[in-house]
Amino acid sequence: PDGDNRDLVLDLSPGVDGQAALVLRDAHEQPSVAALAPRQRRAVAELLRGQFALSLRRVTLFRSLQELARSDPLTGAWRRWYGEARLAELTEAGAVVAVCIADIDRFKRINDLHGHGGGDRVLAAVARALIASVRSEDLVARLGGEEFLIVLPATPPAGAAMVAERLRTAVAALAGLPEAVTVSLGVACCRRDESAGELLARADAALYRAKEQGRDRVVCADGPDELALVRSEPARREPGSTTSIHRAVRPPSGTLPKA
Ligand code: GH3
Ligand code: MG
Ligand code: MG
Repeated sequence: PDGDNRDLVLDLSPGVDGQAALVLRDAHEQPSVAALAPRQRRAVAELLRGQFALSLRRVTLFRSLQELARSDPLTGAWRRWYGEARLAELTEAGAVVAVCIADIDRFKRINDLHGHGGGDRVLAAVARALIASVRSEDLVARLGGEEFLIVLPATPPAGAAMVAERLRTAVAALAGLPEAVTVSLGVACCRRDESAGELLARADAALYRAKEQGRDRVVCADGPDELALVRSEPARREPGSTTSIHRAVRPPSGTLPKA
């Protein structure tokens, strides 16, 4: 503690990355502190500093352990369990959510031709391209091998198809790899009362169709006839509209007949 300073400043830097300090405002004005002799104050401050530094160290250690448990070291994507857990949270909450499953095309061949190291470099580059092509609220997880799950919260079918196409072109545009690489993608948008598992199964079936149709393409599980089954945001009330039925029968803006 500084002689005249009313605050108690505890240096918590040892044991953390960078600098950290805890400032206890007006601590020296507190009767319990003011009554202590300078040496005693220093001893109390040292004790507090040790305790807080330990707590901070625990928090940072916990964070790095959590990060290790959640992310895949080779690709930097989230691990499967974490991606699926986050998806389940969204589906169970009734949220609007879409998923893509991306699978690298003919990856076994890439491994055979360029070795496992070459394959690993391709995997990491594809993951980076996927991660760089989505919004911060989206999530990319490695499902295993050369398959990735992309979770797109609050994304309607047209948006999901657009994102999937963006992901496909981002991977096809990758340069500096042992050879050109492409991905196939299956897209599915969560339906009302659909579980995460059912949603993933439909995306997987769509991916299978993309492979069958020749790879390097996007196939959407929700065709035009099924769009009505997909969850949508609750219709926002327009000023002046009194019921949702009123809104539902209103023609799209721009087509309103002139009064
Ligand atoms: P398709 O176009 O039908 O998807 O063909 P594919 O060869 O990509 O399909 P398949 O799923 O049969 O092959 C996946 C390969 O991925 C097989 C496995 O050796 C390889 N693999 C899985 N995990 C890793 C990894 O961590 N690193 C590397 N280098 N290869 C991996
Ligand atoms: Mg595969
Ligand atoms: Mg593959």
